[in-house]
Amino acid sequence: MSLAELQKLESEYLVNTYERLPVQLVSGEGAYVVDSEGKRYLDFLSGIGVTALGHSHPAITKIIAEQSAKLVHTSNLFFHAYQGELAKKLAEISGLDRTFFTNSGTEAWEAALKFARAYAKAQVAEGKKPKWRVLAMSGAFHGRTMGSVATTARSKYRKPFTPLMPGVRFVKFNDVADLNKKFDDSVCAVALEVVQGEGGITPVSAEFLQAAREITEKNGALLLLDEIQSGLGRTGKYFAYQHFSVKPDMVTVAKPLAAGLPLGAVITTNTVAKSITPGMHGTTFGGGPLVCAVALEFLRIIESERLLTHAQQTGDYFKKRLEELAARDPRIVAVRGVGLMLAIELKSAALAKKLKAMLADGVIINRTNETVLRFLPPYTVTHQQVDEVVGKLARVLGTHHTRRKAVGN
Ligand code: PLP
Repeated sequence: MSLAELQKLESEYLVNTYERLPVQLVSGEGAYVVDSEGKRYLDFLSGIGVTALGHSHPAITKIIAEQSAKLVHTSNLFFHAYQGELAKKLAEISGLDRTFFTNSGTEAWEAALKFARAYAKAQVAEGKKPKWRVLAMSGAFHGRTMGSVATTARSKYRKPFTPLMPGVRFVKFNDVADLNKKFDDSVCAVALEVVQGEGGITPVSAEFLQAAREITEKNGALLLLDEIQSGLGRTGKYFAYQHFSVKPDMVTVAKPLAAGLPLGAVITTNTVAKSITPGMHGTTFGGGPLVCAVALEFLRIIESERLLTHAQQTGDYFKKRLEELAARDPRIVAVRGVGLMLAIELKSAALAKKLKAMLADGVIINRTNETVLRFLPPYTVTHQQVDEVVGKLARVLGTHHTRRKAVGN
């Protein structure tokens, strides 16, 4: 079917939630995807942070083929070989204890919110004061289901769906004084992204994260970290909170966990998990044998291909190249991010719209928060690929730029 025919078909039959780019993708290999006209693109978005091993990684293709020939779905009424093993692995890499699996990021976040409320209720049963309020952050994005929308800041995501879940207040992100002002003994959880994704690739400050940890711990509230975009190696560590000396009560992950198949998770402590008993929460699909087998393979490859170190080093190189570009172009007002979760902020939305020219030039990135260009390349990206993207960016923006020779791979 031609692109024009597809556009017509979808315009008739799909709910109008996306303004798609006029490209039909048909295949991918490594950091590249190919469209229906045979044009190749360097994929520096990875399906919004999902395909962290690149496309069609042979080991992932193999495990999908093998496991799908054996058993795809069981429901959570039965045991299968991989869910417990994957939860053990997540406990090891996070320093937490127990996992609940979901199909998406937003479901993982919903589970975290529900577990926080359930933990607070369990405390009441032990004679403590009732707590129900969640403090979320300005600039936050946690997904599209009702609890996630209630803790998401931007009004365009909230307004059409009110009334939302009650009991949420917003704190100015990275403003310790505002956190202290808004925190009281009705707060059961402080919730934040360690690096805000949709909010423009804005990392939490060490001071703010520490303050959020201390105030929750002191008052019997929980610290919920959303690492759906920043987690599982994207910042060069398994979790972005591991760049700090802080451990949360719950962390959510999803995007890259099953290398492109849908799988999310909330990882928590034994203390919190004690307040959840059978039947209180559940899922038909979450944590099935196919996705869990693939996730175990994903985590094995992260180790065997030493991708945390690679993401850190290539991310540092990429950030340096972007900073060099910014030094030559005053219309780039900021370079932000950690590891391979990077962005440049441009002076105007009009400038950020030049993104379309990047696509024409064979590079996939995206725009977030109007003026921010976001880069989420696969963890396997090379210095040469970084150089290619920075070079094309300079050309598209019209920045005077001297090409440098790549260092390393
Ligand atoms: N939380 C964060 C930080 C995200 O970046 C996203 C998605 O972009 C979500 C939650 C929602 O995840 P999903 O789209 O898988 O529901």
